[in-house]
Amino acid sequence: MKLHEYQAKEIFAKYGLPVTPGAVVKHLSEVDEALKRFPNAPWVVKAQIHAGGRGKAGGVKLAKDEVELRNKASDILGMTLVSPQTGPQGKLVKKIFITPAMDYAKELYVSVVLDRGRQCPVILASSEGGTEIEDLAAHKPQAIQKVYVDPILGLEPYQARQLHLNLGLSRDKINQGARIFQDLVRMFLELDLSLVEVNPLVVLKDGDIHCLDAKVAFEDNGLARHKEYASWRDPDEEDARELAAAGHGLSYISLDGNIGCLANGAGLAMATADAIQHFGGSPANFLDVGGSATAKAVTQAFKIILSDTRVKAILVNIFGGIMKCDVIAQGIIEAAKEVGLSLPLVIRLEGTNVEQGKKMLSQSTLHYQFASSMDEAAKSVVRAVQG
Ligand code: GDP
Ligand code: MN
Repeated sequence: MKLHEYQAKEIFAKYGLPVTPGAVVKHLSEVDEALKRFPNAPWVVKAQIHAGGRGKAGGVKLAKDEVELRNKASDILGMTLVSPQTGPQGKLVKKIFITPAMDYAKELYVSVVLDRGRQCPVILASSEGGTEIEDLAAHKPQAIQKVYVDPILGLEPYQARQLHLNLGLSRDKINQGARIFQDLVRMFLELDLSLVEVNPLVVLKDGDIHCLDAKVAFEDNGLARHKEYASWRDPDEEDARELAAAGHGLSYISLDGNIGCLANGAGLAMATADAIQHFGGSPANFLDVGGSATAKAVTQAFKIILSDTRVKAILVNIFGGIMKCDVIAQGIIEAAKEVGLSLPLVIRLEGTNVEQGKKMLSQSTLHYQFASSMDEAAKSVVRAVQG
């Protein structure tokens, strides 16, 4: 679960990290209220969307007086922001964050992520932070330092001080810098986060170190331990189909292609996507209906796939183990009836109750093509899409 910057900054503040407070504005009429709370110019107006690269895309603007503030707020609120992280369709800005602007001398970068290979958190840090960080990572990776963190001990004070000095930060501020790095790691570990990122971390004119931006992502599998944050999820920022699927206990992930996929088991769902890709097609989604889905859940799964207008054909790939093929067949037949399915449909069924499932399908009025292997199924569905 990703958070907005304003939410991340609230958590940062709880952990004693230096951030500037601000006001969240959802409607231009709320700018007055923001001005009352933060009367002193200049300000920064920041689009609140779950994607980075806002600055370069025009979603972060400085305002030096009240008139400018209102203009910038009106420009950004309601704009569709297109950054490398939003996809070409962009993201509608429904909230902005108005915060006093800081005057700074230097931009650095620091983040904490999980190093899956080493099975521990790792700090990524650079003295060259700012909006060009992706470019830096691609062209000058040696400028990014890594500090591996013991998951039990956290970031040790000596590691934090060493990082501070390695980033070229002033010796006078070593306790402040070390504290920030330790607090970021403590937050990452205590809240089961998958990402904490501060870009830029800045050195202010007086030498103090400050978090100018804040990004936090919770690990979804850890959220059950942090119920107080569950309501912080912003449905506006999530894929509507992914949310609907989660509500029915289905694992659905949107992809870019046009072949709708329905499989049982994450492994089979991934293999299905691979097979489609292998034969020159492109999956529209990953969908695992799970090991014990009911006919009703399968109907919901179909509805979710079909709500995606890019979908031009559907592949059902089921290996019945705990999941019974007749249940799937019933779900497909009911769903097709309910939604008036007219797209090409390829079905591959194997395993428990396969004969019953096949019989139900063949006795129905459903139009479909049966495939007896995964290769055949993938080839058929790709052919159906390509006409
Ligand atoms: P991002 O592009 O989505 O990561 O948004 P950021 O919050 O990092 O802002 C992008 C850029 O805007 C920063 O790298 C700064 O150059 C600039 N910026 C943001 N806040 C301030 C501020 O308070 N003062 C100044 N001078 N620049 C700011
Ligand atoms: Mn940033």
